[in-house]
Amino acid sequence: MSRQMGDSHRRFLQTMMASGIIDESGAKALHQHCCETHSTQYAPDRLDDFIDTINSKLQPMFMQIRKGMSEDNGHQHYALVNMVENDVTRMSSDYADNELELFKKTMDLIVGSEDGKASSTDILNSTDSMTTKKLKKSEIEHLLNRLVQDKWLSEKRGEYTLSTRCIIEMEPYIRAMYQDQVKVCHICHAIAFQCQICENPTCGIKIHNPCVARYFKGRTEPRCPACEDFWPHEIPEVRRPRSQSRR
Ligand SMILES: [Zn+2]
Ligand SMILES: [Zn+2]
Repeated sequence: MSRQMGDSHRRFLQTMMASGIIDESGAKALHQHCCETHSTQYAPDRLDDFIDTINSKLQPMFMQIRKGMSEDNGHQHYALVNMVENDVTRMSSDYADNELELFKKTMDLIVGSEDGKASSTDILNSTDSMTTKKLKKSEIEHLLNRLVQDKWLSEKRGEYTLSTRCIIEMEPYIRAMYQDQVKVCHICHAIAFQCQICENPTCGIKIHNPCVARYFKGRTEPRCPACEDFWPHEIPEVRRPRSQSRR
C-alpha cells in the first residue's frame, strides 16, 4: 500500500506507544490534535482510515493498532499490540518469573470463573501451587497494584478482571491457551468474560454486559437470541461514551 504516513500519523503513533491504549473519544481528540498540529487535512469521520495508514506501516514490524470493546462500559478502545509476542512472555521485561506465574494463575482463575472475575483472596490462595519462588502476601498486593497500573488487570472492590488492553492484546493467546473454556459473545463475537449467560442448559450462550444492554434496549420481553428462551437477567443500561454524553 502506498498511503503515506505524515507527521500527524507519527505523532498519533508516538502517543499510542506511550499510553498503550486509548478510548474512542480520546482517539478522536488525538486524531484532531495531530492533524491540526501538523496542518494536515482533518476528517473527523476518517479515524479508522487514519489508523489503517499507520497500520500499513506497522505491519512489517509485526505491530498493529487494534480496536476492541471495554467489557466494563462497552466503549471502543484502540490498543497498540505486538502481533508476534501476544502472550505473557511479552511482559517478561517488566516482570520476574514468579510474578508472571502469578499473573497466569490470575488469568486461569478469571477465565475459569462464571463472571470473569477473581477475588484477591482467591489469587492469594492460588500461590500455594506456585512452582517458582513463592511471593509474600505484601509482594502479591504490590504486584496486583502494578498489574492494574500497567493496565493488564482492572480492579473493583477487591475483584480483578482482565483489562481491555489485556483482552485486545492477548486475545489470540487466550483463545489458544483456554480453547475449552473461553467463549465468545453471541452478539459481537469477541471473547467474553464479564457477561450474562443463557440459563437454558442446552444453550448457554454468553453476551457481554454492554452488548446485553444494547441488544435488549427497548424490548419488553427479552428472549435469548439463540434459543428464544426468556432472558432472566437484569438488563443493564446502555452507557454512552463520554464525548457523546457531553454534547
Ligand atoms: Zn459482545
Ligand atoms: Zn439461549
